[in-house]
This record gives sequence, structure tokens and C-alpha cells, in this order.
Amino acid sequence: MPFTHCPTCGGEMVTKEVEKLLRGGVHAAVLHVDAEVCLRCGERLYSMETVRRFEQIRGKLACEDLDDLQPIGRTFRVA
Ligand SMILES: [Zn+2]
Repeated sequence: MPFTHCPTCGGEMVTKEVEKLLRGGVHAAVLHVDAEVCLRCGERLYSMETVRRFEQIRGKLACEDLDDLQPIGRTFRVA
């Protein structure tokens, strides 16, 4: 990763596993990925590979191509 300091606030960045929620169409998926996280403001930076993976999963959700995805529950909208 090229960043050792946060591009937003200049704080120190550390590598952490984070939970990311992706949406595509009416579906959503949760995954755990490594990100560079700012200790000061919480800004997250992802690697190019991770961003590409996000795009792939968003595309699958939007196209209802859900065979590789494991359902873990239901998502509700609060009126
Ligand atoms: Zn920051």
C-alpha cells in the first residue's frame, strides 16, 4: 500500500480487517477484507484488487448471479 499516512487528515494508517457491506440491485453482501484504516479519522483505503472484488460482487448482486454467495439472513427496510 502506498499510504502510510491518511490523505484526508494526515493520521497514521494501520492495516486492519474490516467488514464491508456491498449493495447491488435489491441485494446486499457482507465481506471481510483488509483495509488501511486511519487511526485518527477512520478513513478506509482499499487495494486495487479489493476494489475490483467489490465491483465484481456488486455486479453479481445486481444481475442476481447469486450462486457463489451464501445467504446469511434477511435484510429489512424500516418504514
Ligand atoms: Zn485520517
